[in-house]
Amino acid sequence: MSKKCILIAGSGFAGLWAAISAARAIELTDKQDEVEIVMVSPSPTLAIRPRLYEAVIENMNPSIAEILDTLDVRHIAGVVRDIDADGKTAVIIHNDGTSETVGYDRFVLATGSKLFAPSIPGLDEYSFNVDTLPAAEKLEAHLQSLVDEPPSEARNTVVIAGGGFTGIEGATEMPERLRSILGRDASVRVLIVDPAEQIGKEMGDQVVEVVEQALDELGIESRSGVLVSAIEKDSVTLSSGEEIPARTVVWSAGMRAHELTAQVPGEKDELGRVVGDEFLRAPAARGIFVTGDTVKAATDDVGNYAVMSCQHSLSLGRVAGHNAAAELVGLELHPYSQPKYVTCLDLGPWGALLTEGWDRQVQMKGADAKKVKEEINRVWIYPPEADKNTMFAVANPDHVIVP
Ligand SMILES: Cc1cc2nc3c(=O)[nH]c(=O)nc-3n(C[C@H](O)[C@H](O)[C@H](O)COP(=O)(O)OP(=O)(O)OC[C@H]3O[C@@H](n4cnc5c(N)ncnc54)[C@H](O)[C@@H]3O)c2cc1C
Repeated sequence: MSKKCILIAGSGFAGLWAAISAARAIELTDKQDEVEIVMVSPSPTLAIRPRLYEAVIENMNPSIAEILDTLDVRHIAGVVRDIDADGKTAVIIHNDGTSETVGYDRFVLATGSKLFAPSIPGLDEYSFNVDTLPAAEKLEAHLQSLVDEPPSEARNTVVIAGGGFTGIEGATEMPERLRSILGRDASVRVLIVDPAEQIGKEMGDQVVEVVEQALDELGIESRSGVLVSAIEKDSVTLSSGEEIPARTVVWSAGMRAHELTAQVPGEKDELGRVVGDEFLRAPAARGIFVTGDTVKAATDDVGNYAVMSCQHSLSLGRVAGHNAAAELVGLELHPYSQPKYVTCLDLGPWGALLTEGWDRQVQMKGADAKKVKEEINRVWIYPPEADKNTMFAVANPDHVIVP
């Protein structure tokens, strides 16, 4: 008898935890001989995207190969290019360029998100970003190369385009990062640009107050209520008409769901995410589960939805993986719910900010919050030990990691 197949696209936070949770459900019912798990992604690694704004790009792509071996998950090195929801098949392009069509019984879409890149003159040619590991490495190489250029205002200036979570984290690291490259006495300039009336406004007034204090103390300038309208090699122009000499523009204007969501029949939200049901199924595509940054999912019954975040992706992954397997092995499906919401915003050498609730009440700030951020970034979001008992103990779909 051929085995039924759970095909997981993506080995990020959601894909990894979907695999662990699905393996747990299969083992709970002792159906390892009946159901197999196959994961497709460019490499059996977990890209630690939340840390890519940091100055030192180290251990940002740990291997998950041993975990997959322990769980008997077969990894295919490549990408899913096409999904045929009616025929229940997916076309995979292997890393060597060859392709194959794989049939599935359940498909878990965990291909994450990508940086939003509108059509702005010079954006592709001259801007940098920290969306992927290669992009973060390119930014780092560029910053390191600035020291070989003749000193100028443009050389010493970094503009961060986008004052959301990622933009603020990148900006607050930047003055120290630049000084460590250009010299302690170098006169560096870091600006953060955002269309909102205040930097951090979308996170609420309490956050704005703390962010303003941190930016001020770190000497970071801001331009709010304006957009970047053009980027050149040595300058950036704002919608206000202001032209800022800058050799470095870091684009940080939000994320959009991976393009494969467009191939899943059914409703999408403004970020391109598939609107999932309570079990994270794509309601218009039988057999497809959507998870992590690819799904719009209600976290509670009072109108809140998961945001594109690690915090949500870890739980969304567990629930989608469990449910994909549960449908095949005869376990009860588990509804997704994650009412507790916490954010921890890194503010560079100033510290960090920990908030709780959707209204983002400040719980902790400065050095104490920084310790929490470091624990999240360096421990909690990393892959678990490749030991079945350890993994299964925290793969229950009810399990939630919050500070
Ligand atoms: C700079 C930065 C800072 C961030 N800071 C925070 C933070 O502080 N807190 C927080 O909670 N979140 C943060 N985030 C967001 C967080 O990283 C994402 O929400 C999270 O990574 C989403 O997890 P995911 O598993 O859905 O997708 P991803 O982590 O994006 O993983 C997607 C996976 O799919 C694979 N893939 C892509 N295309 C294909 C394909 N066609 N076929 C097969 N596989 C494919 C990729 O290789 C990868 O393995 C940050 C993100 C960035 C970029």
